Amino acid sequence: MERVEIAIIGTGPAGLEAAITATLRNKKILLIGDPDLSGKLRKAHRIDNYLGLPEIAGSDLAEQFRAHLDKMGIEILQDRIGGIYSMGDYFALQGGKDNYEAETVILASGVVMEKPIPGEQENLGRGVSYCATCDAALYRGKTALVLGYSPEEEAEVAFLAEVAEKVTYLPQYRAEEYPGLGDATNIVVEKETPLEILKADGEMVLKTSTGSEYHSNGIFVLREATPPDQLVPGLGTEGNAVVCDRQMRTSVEGIFAAGDITGAPYQYIKAAGEGNIAALSAVNYLVAKKRNAGA
Ligand SMILES: Cc1cc2nc3c(=O)[nH]c(=O)nc-3n(C[C@H](O)[C@H](O)[C@H](O)COP(=O)(O)OP(=O)(O)OC[C@H]3O[C@@H](n4cnc5c(N)ncnc54)[C@H](O)[C@@H]3O)c2cc1C
Repeated sequence: MERVEIAIIGTGPAGLEAAITATLRNKKILLIGDPDLSGKLRKAHRIDNYLGLPEIAGSDLAEQFRAHLDKMGIEILQDRIGGIYSMGDYFALQGGKDNYEAETVILASGVVMEKPIPGEQENLGRGVSYCATCDAALYRGKTALVLGYSPEEEAEVAFLAEVAEKVTYLPQYRAEEYPGLGDATNIVVEKETPLEILKADGEMVLKTSTGSEYHSNGIFVLREATPPDQLVPGLGTEGNAVVCDRQMRTSVEGIFAAGDITGAPYQYIKAAGEGNIAALSAVNYLVAKKRNAGA
């Protein structure tokens, strides 16, 4: 795929506003995320503090956002980014479906609210994965356990079940039915709360609050957002937030951040505003880069 000027990760208000602003500034962009926009938009029953749109339901606000994108001809590339790597002059983005290249990146992938499960980070890449689309092939004919934190993850579980021998699904949200799992017969759903992840005799083990132990070849932890320092190795963070300045510049030159990923307050209008600043900063960065290259 052709290298773009600005890659935007995330389709909540921060990413969408960044995409709109960058497009208005004639930049070649790639907006990567969920075509259904953000789950946090759809979940809000009523929003009272979005300028000009009082008492609007989250689903209606999402429709307004969608119409704005359509009007400007902005498309969403459906993928989940697992890692972003600096290649000197550009960034390589590793997606579940494909890899991409961009001169600058805007991180707008939301915040991880849940604390990591003990043992999760220690075993990341060694039996624990954050992306079923990216790593499903490793579990062909094997067993996998998935902790899913939102109904959106059910599609990932169904995909994993197409290659794995058996998938045990532990939904971490309230629901009576799991329509996204489809009709796969090799998915077993268990209502359990995770306590600890360990590795024993080459197998992954999940201990739960009921005292049960689940053994499998791999454990997937699927949350709505990806921890930023997993997304960009070495990125400056404070707690679960990316450290950035008022221009939304992060500690990695050429990478900007916007929205919940930069920390509280967690608000739609703050996310959209930061998306606007991040896009303008990315544009300025591209101008300076071009000027320096010509000097
Ligand atoms: C129930 C509820 C009600 C709320 N009510 C209000 C309210 O009334 N007023 C208000 O101001 N705020 C409210 N909020 C807060 C608001 O939802 C957030 O502040 C806002 O959505 C943040 O926008 P964002 O773009 O930063 O992130 P998000 O909206 O979280 O969007 C992030 C996007 O990035 C995608 N993504 C994550 N990781 C990756 C990856 N690795 N690759 C590709 N895509 C990825 C996600 O799928 C998602 O689409 C509410 C939140 C909830 C949950």
